Amino acid sequence: MAEFDYDLFVVGAGSGGVRAARTASSLGARVAIAEMDRLGGTCVNVGCVPKKLFFYGSHFAHDLRDARGYGWLTESSFDWSTLQENKNREIQRLNRIYRELLERAGVRLRTGQARLIDPHTVEVGGSRHTAERILIATGGTAIVPEIPGKEHARDSNAVFELDRLPRRVMVVGAGYVALELGSVFVALGADVTLVHRGEEILRGFDHDLRYHLHDELEAKGMRILLETEVRALRETDAGFEAELTDGEVIATDFPMFAIGRKPNTAGLGLEELGVELGPWGSIVVDDDFTSSVPSIHAVGDVTNHLQLTPVALAEAMHFAHRFYGRGRHRIDYMSIPTAVFCQPELATVGLTEAQAWHRCQDVRVYKSVFTPLKLSLSERHEHSIVKLVVDASDDRVVGCHMVGPGAAEIIQGLAVAMKAGATKAQFDATLGIHPTSAEEFVTLR
Ligand code: FAD
Ligand code: NDP
Repeated sequence: MAEFDYDLFVVGAGSGGVRAARTASSLGARVAIAEMDRLGGTCVNVGCVPKKLFFYGSHFAHDLRDARGYGWLTESSFDWSTLQENKNREIQRLNRIYRELLERAGVRLRTGQARLIDPHTVEVGGSRHTAERILIATGGTAIVPEIPGKEHARDSNAVFELDRLPRRVMVVGAGYVALELGSVFVALGADVTLVHRGEEILRGFDHDLRYHLHDELEAKGMRILLETEVRALRETDAGFEAELTDGEVIATDFPMFAIGRKPNTAGLGLEELGVELGPWGSIVVDDDFTSSVPSIHAVGDVTNHLQLTPVALAEAMHFAHRFYGRGRHRIDYMSIPTAVFCQPELATVGLTEAQAWHRCQDVRVYKSVFTPLKLSLSERHEHSIVKLVVDASDDRVVGCHMVGPGAAEIIQGLAVAMKAGATKAQFDATLGIHPTSAEEFVTLR
């Protein structure tokens, strides 16, 4: 008779939780998973997937205008509810696939909000389940601003439920969500004002890309206010008003705040069990994703580390193999490629120029700003930028950065080259595929 009901009980069936549950089960563990909402978590339901579908949907506005230069003279119109309905259908399909994946892997699904009773017991919907280990993969939630009228603030989840396209949108923040969803609204014809407390958008990214992207977003019609914050929100007969720190008052139909996400740990009972929590209630874990209580583990956004789906998946793989398999899947957090799906999109891997100057004795930088050939027959005045950062001591490429169409697809390939330790000489010795934007990376002199 086993001492516990399960070897592993996972709380949260999002990217990290589902991957950990399936992998541990395939390695022979008896696994259960609790989910209080839709299967697939943030990424599938209100994150990567609907966001990328909205990116595609809204990008047709630019593409259709470009098409005129190529002789396509048809008129077109856009229907927001078709996009929402088709997106919802696709997400329901993915929810079903997630359920099937769990069932096929032999993972028991418990529906409801989970809470820890002791280091080996989880309560879901009034039933208690014991497990040798508990994995917390509860993700995060958008942070709400602490300002008067904060009840009027909307977050990214609300975008995916809007029944009509707002005419005037205010976006607060200048990180991933703000730029991505702000770009969707701009492309679809809304008046978008972005309000950012910092001196430039996308803190932490390479400075050349930040300035370049700023100009491109403004050229597309986004109004960007820097070093400005929202002091208060008010509801009016016509929508909402936001009072800014510089005194301006913005009338808006949709005041969206994208000022980061905080871990979902409230109500889980972790403090009572002595689990060490960090900033915003994040779970502090060691290299094997074990908390200060040895039977309680955590992966993904709830650790407030790098909030990206491939990171949650990699952490889940590491956890499952560490405790139920053989060997480890060490994660190299140093060169994680990432993209901001704004319009034009931005993608990057490795060190920014400023980081390289801190870590390397000498640095060489190569960059090119150009008009993609596809746009030469269109009226879209958009420039791309590519940039390579090279450690001059051994010629290794330590950073690849791009703003422009296809940036994410291009940088994913270059991330492999960087992982393999490619040098600038090897980039130069690689022939380009002509004519492409990607070939710029092998012709930088
Ligand atoms: P989640 O996927 O959030 O899963 C957590 C699950 O736990 C949820 O289903 C939740 O309902 C459940 N849960 C919480 N508490 C409990 C409880 N007490 N009991 C039971 N269940 C519970 N990342 C990318 O890599 N690329 C992108 O393009 C991208 N786009 C994004 C766009 C947006 C708008 C947002 C908000 C995020 C985006 N992300 C993107 C980030 C990505 O979605 C997250 O990093 C990823 O989903 C984290 O996975 P997770 O498993 O840690 O948590
Ligand atoms: P980000 O951390 O990307 O950006 C937050 C923005 O809000 C920053 O510009 C920050 O400014 C600003 N900010 C923070 N606090 C305040 C405040 N109190 N008042 C005003 N502004 C503030 O968070 P997001 O919400 O955009 O996204 C959350 C995470 O989800 C991302 O970090 C990313 O990991 C993930 N994600 C990934 C995507 C992808 O891979 N394509 C897409 C969407 C989300 P400052 O720079 O001054 O701190």
